[in-house]
Amino acid sequence: MSVATTAQRPAEDLVDPFGRTVGDLRISVTDRCNFRCQYCMPAEGMKWLPRSEILSFEEIEQFARVCVERFGFESIRLTGGEPLVRAHLPQLVERLAGLGVDVALTTNGATLRMHAKPLADAGLSRINISLDSLQRERFLELTRRDELDRVLDGIDAAIDAGLAPVKINTVMMRGINDDEVVDFARFGRERGVEVRFIEFMPLEAGDVWTSDVVVPADEILAAISAEFATEPILRSSEPAERYRYLDGGGQVGVIASVTKPFCGNCDRVRLTAEGQFRTCLFALNEFDMRTILRSDAVGGELEDQLVEAIRSAVGTKWAGHSIGQVNFIKPKRTMSQIGG
Ligand code: SAM
Ligand code: SF4
Repeated sequence: MSVATTAQRPAEDLVDPFGRTVGDLRISVTDRCNFRCQYCMPAEGMKWLPRSEILSFEEIEQFARVCVERFGFESIRLTGGEPLVRAHLPQLVERLAGLGVDVALTTNGATLRMHAKPLADAGLSRINISLDSLQRERFLELTRRDELDRVLDGIDAAIDAGLAPVKINTVMMRGINDDEVVDFARFGRERGVEVRFIEFMPLEAGDVWTSDVVVPADEILAAISAEFATEPILRSSEPAERYRYLDGGGQVGVIASVTKPFCGNCDRVRLTAEGQFRTCLFALNEFDMRTILRSDAVGGELEDQLVEAIRSAVGTKWAGHSIGQVNFIKPKRTMSQIGG
């Protein structure tokens, strides 16, 4: 049995078959949610994972530690489902921040007033809050919850807690909320938060919304630029194309996941709440890490097994998804089950 610990080993680059170095881990901490967004979940009848199938904080930390110490991962984002419905989340944030990585969170924001400060104190650095409408009736229709005011207050709570940057994720949908582009841009400028408009991806629960719903990022950008002068910010490896308002009103971003996929630069992998490892949001295969985490292996032996499993899974990472093409096959699971 190997007795080496991670601290003794240098990090190795985790390179996929297309030469991309993987270094960004999304961890879903729950499949449950307090909202029922139309594009993500049915109104009723979701079957939740039993508690025993969900990874514990210890197991998540163990997996993350291997990613960080053996493969040099630099960022971890917690998501779900709604991550804030998982009890004691700050404890997990503290464990992960202790690994020396940047820890971020994606949330619907409804309970942020209560959670923002403990999360910031635990070491959370960045936060993305999802918000698809600034109109109460429409928000209710989209999320099936009358929670707009609480989400808006949650955004303020995140700012008050010193989380920075606070970003707003807005999925734009044709005929549903695409008349709110400028309202959102103005909202971001006034609150000092960066709004990131995201193209709708056909991964929704009900098979009702199709690619007709996609509003191309270029169209979103044109609507913003018609109202406010902007200039592009040099793009890094992140998926968002970002722009600066020339009058100093902050920044705005568009994520063209469908019309201009950023797969060529993708450095992400995902761990679902029950410990399945995925190399793409749209992957059709999953790799079972929970069985390894719950095996008899401990210490260096456990780490070596995880390293091997991660390496071989990343060896299957594909060049990119094929949304909008005839060969696209939708994964069986919803975004909330995968961890969006
Ligand atoms: N509950 C949290 C939230 O809503 O922010 C985290 C999980 S949610 C699945 C993560 C993100 O996925 C949200 O910003 C949501 O808007 C986005 N999302 C869900 N379904 C989507 C779809 N079909 N296309 C694009 N984005 C989607
Ligand atoms: Fe919940 Fe987020 Fe899915 Fe909405 S998008 S139902 S908030 S997991």
